[in-house]
Amino acid sequence: MTDSSAKVDNLVDWLRDAHAMEQQAETMLKAQSSRLENYPKLKARIDQHIEETLGQQKLLDGCLARLNASPSTIKDMGGKIMAFGQGASGMFVSDEVIKGAMAGYVFENMEIAAYTVLIAAAKAAGDLETQRACEQILPQEEAMAAWLKEHLPELTQAYLARDAAPDTTAKR
Ligand code: MG
Ligand code: FE
Repeated sequence: MTDSSAKVDNLVDWLRDAHAMEQQAETMLKAQSSRLENYPKLKARIDQHIEETLGQQKLLDGCLARLNASPSTIKDMGGKIMAFGQGASGMFVSDEVIKGAMAGYVFENMEIAAYTVLIAAAKAAGDLETQRACEQILPQEEAMAAWLKEHLPELTQAYLARDAAPDTTAKR
């Protein structure tokens, strides 16, 4: 295997991983949004990020197609099943909204790491279009991570206030 084809092979592997990650993101975000009832600001930001996530999937599809590769169906399925499990596990905790926001923050940071790696790998392989696509996605993940971090205190206060009040639901 030549040096450059090994670089492209790694790039394709990591693009497939990112594709599976975005499938997982879509499942998780949609589950969170559909269950949220009392936290409209969080729900609206999640809905915005669902739209961004669908755009990211399209960009990754385009990168894989240009490299004559297809997404990994097995990894995509595995991610969806894991995300379903995470979504379902929220149903059993009384602080679902807090656990969900924390999990979201962790997930966004994983995405930041993945696209930072992909940008470097695309540069190394000389694939400018993949580099540009990932440079377009990365700030969306950084913005979502920053929004969650910034709003965790106020979300916690809202949760605690609802939890302390007699006739309100705090959970979601
Ligand atoms: Mg994403
Ligand atoms: Fe994201």
